[in-house]
Amino acid sequence: MKAKIAVLAGDGVGREIVPEAVKVLQAIGEKYQHTFEFTSADIGGQAIDKVGVPLPQETLALAKQSDAVLLGAVGGPKWEGLEYSLRPERALLGIREALGLYANLRPAKVYPNLVDASTLKREVIEGIDILVVRELTGGIYFGKPKGIEKLPNGEERGVNTEVYTTEEIRRIGKVAFEAARKRRKKVTSVDKANVLESSELWRRVMIEVQKSYPDVELHHIYVDNAAMQLVRNPRQFDVMVCNNIFGDILSDEAAMLTGSIGMLPSASIGAKVGLFEPIHGSAPDIAGKNIANPIATIASAGMMLSYAFKLEKEAEAIEQAIVKTLDMGYRTKDIQGPDTRVVGTTEMGDAILRNL
Ligand code: ATP
Ligand code: MG
Repeated sequence: MKAKIAVLAGDGVGREIVPEAVKVLQAIGEKYQHTFEFTSADIGGQAIDKVGVPLPQETLALAKQSDAVLLGAVGGPKWEGLEYSLRPERALLGIREALGLYANLRPAKVYPNLVDASTLKREVIEGIDILVVRELTGGIYFGKPKGIEKLPNGEERGVNTEVYTTEEIRRIGKVAFEAARKRRKKVTSVDKANVLESSELWRRVMIEVQKSYPDVELHHIYVDNAAMQLVRNPRQFDVMVCNNIFGDILSDEAAMLTGSIGMLPSASIGAKVGLFEPIHGSAPDIAGKNIANPIATIASAGMMLSYAFKLEKEAEAIEQAIVKTLDMGYRTKDIQGPDTRVVGTTEMGDAILRNL
């Protein structure tokens, strides 16, 4: 196949880890005879320095005419004092919104060789392999009315409204069921249907969607119980589908179960062009030292192959190369342990490349 990939490395460690993922995608292209065409553009603080805005028009135009976007990270201390609309982080919201990405997929998986690198107990985390599917463009973050209003007595009132339509729930439900089909065929829908009407509708629509996926199990769980079960017995979960706010919270909770933030990829999908990025930020404290872990970004490239291009065999090849490299004892500093070999960012990328 032929695909155009927009490469937005951004700031901080983004500039070091994105080239490693590009290297891996190039190798996959050669090995499996796909033509991947890479075009780079500026985003975040780097774009502010060059043209004064975090998300330049040409970057957005490039993203829109590409088949997928690979993103590093944005932000850093240099741009922290800027007003809200000019902050590097605005670029992330801007690009997700402009591309119409309503589904955020975050796998949280414990690699067998990293179980002991976690601060949590082996009994709890061994074998965790969860995919959190979060609705990204609706719910309480966007529902109207919203705002802060002055009351006659001089006090103020802050308002947000949780709103979901059947169509918004249906489409995120489908993403979850499709994803579950490629996995262990179990969807757990998270809601607060005992209290919230929007959740009552959420639950009803999920039951409707499941009828088109008779091979996939559907379970329902209240969000408070989900938060508890994630730390008590996380292995019970395969795909968790959540509204915007519950997904925001639970995806961070699930991520932290697995140890290093440097290992975790993400995909934002739902429209023509998907966006693939590590869950971590620009990590200014370690930027420029060739010590950042590139695995989250390389795994994000793997998600791109699977979710944007339906190249499952190729995505699996990346996954296997990561596992093999960890098996061989290669570790970046953030995941080092006894009897391991600590390497830098580029060396980790090279080792994964060899294991492809
Ligand atoms: P943001 O606000 O941009 O979401 P943050 O400032 O909360 O992010 P990160 O930039 O993700 O956090 O960094 C959090 C910590 O994790 C830092 O100590 C950083 O060095 C570490 N970290 C992040 N990414 C990596 C990586 N790829 N490899 C190793 N360590 C990392
Ligand atoms: Mg940061």
